[in-house]
Amino acid sequence: MRLLNNSSYFSKEPEYVKDEPTRLPLRQGALRLIPFRGLILKQKLFIRKTNQNMHTLDTKSLKSWFMAHQRELPWREDRSPYAVWVSEMMLQQTQVAVVIPYFERWMKRFPSIQALANAPLDDVIKVWEGLGYYSRARYLHQGAQQIVQNHKGIFPQIPEELSKIKGIGPYTVGAICSFAFQQKMAAVDGNVIRVLARYFMIEHDIAKTKTVQHLREIAEEILPEKEPWVINEALIELGATVCMRKPNCGACPLKKGCLAYRHNKCEQLPYKSSKTIIQRLYRSVAVIRSGDSLLIKRGVLGEVMSDLHEFPYMETTSTGGSGEELKEYIEQLCGTGVMWEYHLPIVKHSFTRFRVELKPSVFSVRKQAKAPASYQWLTISELERLAFSSGHRRIFHTLQQRKAMS
Ligand code: SF4
Repeated sequence: MRLLNNSSYFSKEPEYVKDEPTRLPLRQGALRLIPFRGLILKQKLFIRKTNQNMHTLDTKSLKSWFMAHQRELPWREDRSPYAVWVSEMMLQQTQVAVVIPYFERWMKRFPSIQALANAPLDDVIKVWEGLGYYSRARYLHQGAQQIVQNHKGIFPQIPEELSKIKGIGPYTVGAICSFAFQQKMAAVDGNVIRVLARYFMIEHDIAKTKTVQHLREIAEEILPEKEPWVINEALIELGATVCMRKPNCGACPLKKGCLAYRHNKCEQLPYKSSKTIIQRLYRSVAVIRSGDSLLIKRGVLGEVMSDLHEFPYMETTSTGGSGEELKEYIEQLCGTGVMWEYHLPIVKHSFTRFRVELKPSVFSVRKQAKAPASYQWLTISELERLAFSSGHRRIFHTLQQRKAMS
């Protein structure tokens, strides 16, 4: 089979005809017969055509723009594989401004792979507290232990070895190989996908693996031999600061060659079919006090809140459960009578696809009963050293402020 070219390489699904030898202009400009093996995407073919009407990325302008406009970021001062790894893990699903103080605290507290590998998990989660998606912190911890055990604490430079480390996916492999080891390897994150999908006007669904794989191939193809890591980083920077969801094309160094800009399709691209469905949760939270201790649950491994601490709660509805229902629930949980004391302000927080409203109330027990399974009674000073889920941490802080004022 071979691919039929047409005028718009990126706007329709590829078309194919039967296998036959094809004349393909090479990068150097020579012609050579190349037998096709199976189907070849026309976009890939197009990228290879360099000396005719090929649409290339203007890497020269991109590089100049990057050298003049790149932001000063703490992880750009330290290009060790460890710093690149930590920063890239933190930056997943999280904005740069949020990550900066976390990165600085982390590098102070765990300045090396060894320090991270030797730290207790609770300390690691505590430093990560508030950044969300806690599996990233657990992966960093487990990955550091793997590197210490299997690689004597030194990052492997071979991509296949890197990808065996816990939590290191294709993007992070590319980022570490490119930024830390200066290898010629693409690092394709959401920013790069957005820029390339628009620049080459790729209208296929980026929720599909084959589209992302294709964009990855393009990203590999466009990297120059000289300082390829600069182009990688420049693409990420452009996506983060100019070619954003709402693009600022007026300030873009690539607008001359951008097909989406030319066809007025910037805001429609990239196309993604599956949208995240937001789910709302309503919870009545019981802060149960016994002297200086509070009843706390630690999320077990495999749960969304694993290793994080939360007060007991029950699911309710948008109109809220009654105080009586909550009292009954916690009396059953504790196996003893409880006394309602006061309400705390409602807290709203989000995690993954959930938007949660927490309605906290404070109760007390006269006689401390044995904590139910997976719960424990902990003192305020013990709790100060542990990590909470973000909504419950705010409840805990409010409680402390109240206590300080009373
Ligand atoms: S011209 Fe606009 S859409 Fe195209 S790459 Fe630049 S910012 Fe993105």
